[in-house]
Amino acid sequence: MEKKAFVTLEKAKEIAKDYPTPFILYDEKGIRENLEAIKKAFSWNKGYKEYFAVKACPNPFLMEIVKEYGFGSDCSSYTELMLSQKLGIVGDDIMFSSNDTPDEDYKYAGELDAIINLDDITHIEQVERVLGRLPEKMSCRFNPGGLFELSNGIMDNPGDSKYGMTEEQLYEAYKILKEKGVKRFGLHAFLASNTVTNDYYPKLAGILFELCIKIREITGVSLSFINLSGGVGIPYRPGEEPNDIIAIGEGVRKKFEEIMVPAGLSDVSIYTEMGRFVTGPYGALVTKAIHEKHIYKEYIGVDACAVNLMRPAMYGAYHHITVLGKEDEPLTHKYDVTGSLCENNDKFAIDRELPKIDNGDYLFIHDAGAHGYAMGYNYNGKLKCAEILLKEDGSYKLIRRAEKPSDYFATFDCFDDYKELAR
Ligand SMILES: *Cc1c(COP(=O)(O)O)cnc(C)c1O
Repeated sequence: MEKKAFVTLEKAKEIAKDYPTPFILYDEKGIRENLEAIKKAFSWNKGYKEYFAVKACPNPFLMEIVKEYGFGSDCSSYTELMLSQKLGIVGDDIMFSSNDTPDEDYKYAGELDAIINLDDITHIEQVERVLGRLPEKMSCRFNPGGLFELSNGIMDNPGDSKYGMTEEQLYEAYKILKEKGVKRFGLHAFLASNTVTNDYYPKLAGILFELCIKIREITGVSLSFINLSGGVGIPYRPGEEPNDIIAIGEGVRKKFEEIMVPAGLSDVSIYTEMGRFVTGPYGALVTKAIHEKHIYKEYIGVDACAVNLMRPAMYGAYHHITVLGKEDEPLTHKYDVTGSLCENNDKFAIDRELPKIDNGDYLFIHDAGAHGYAMGYNYNGKLKCAEILLKEDGSYKLIRRAEKPSDYFATFDCFDDYKELAR
């Protein structure tokens, strides 16, 4: 698929007059259309719910939009629970899928009556100790070990990942939970990340549906829901075929009719916890070229850095770049596009073919709508940028201001001498 910016140079300049670059810009229209499609794709399942993975994009204004579609939150930390509660997302609308979990987090999840998804069998005891009882509903996370492979070559290695329980532990866990009076049960697994193929969810669903039947046979537990978690990816590179969520929903339905319906399990709800797929393509880092340097390679320095979008530095991830206003110009130059951190991995692109870039040009770095702002940090004393929502009518709204030096120094406010920096 061709990568096209969802904003023009003129609009980007207009926004930058109010909110200087860099900023993350979100496309409300794109997000809404996508949410609508997700809802439609799984409408065949009566209890279907998407629990938006808050960690992908923890902005309350975007979470509010997701909530409008009847969806909940997938939280994995104390502050993510706080965000959800603030938005009135509580009870069965929160999936608490954490790992290596502190007592305080379980306590809070229990107070909000969230669905707790246990990463490990030892967490049964921990939750019981912290809450004084087990909640009525509980879910378990499965890790099949070994390798997980899809037909198009995508491979992940669950055997090397820290998450979930073995099959044997899973049976043991359900038996214990049942004995201890738990009434509603769920099953969860996350086996591959950023899959760009319509096969991932159907394949995972097949595995979990078979397992659901075995769980009933071995433990007598009937599951109420099966949670396919996240992992549905987006085409970061041009030429990649995007996932078709309608086809994915159909693929899961086929497996459901093949395996669940004949087993008398047609009442089981399907849940998802997508993050990247929900907001990823509908956010971009908009940044300005401020420096051109020629040494052994050609460099374009921009006013953003890895603090605003860490994926390239962290995983060498590809993020497509459009030079706004130069969409149709030939790709005559090969640049490294860099930020200003004193770290040589602070590069948004390496040896990227782009049109000639001049100082002052606006660069649109695609697919920063998930795991973008959210991963930010403050290395080198750099401050995190603003987040702005581009509305359907072309107007725009600040949904998080840029950090100021006083934010950076806020944690010194316990020292009288430094209070003035924190103001
Ligand atoms: C990260 C995560 C998700 C979301 O994953 P995406 O790839 O962004 O869809 C969902 N569930 C859990 C438990 C996660 O850790």
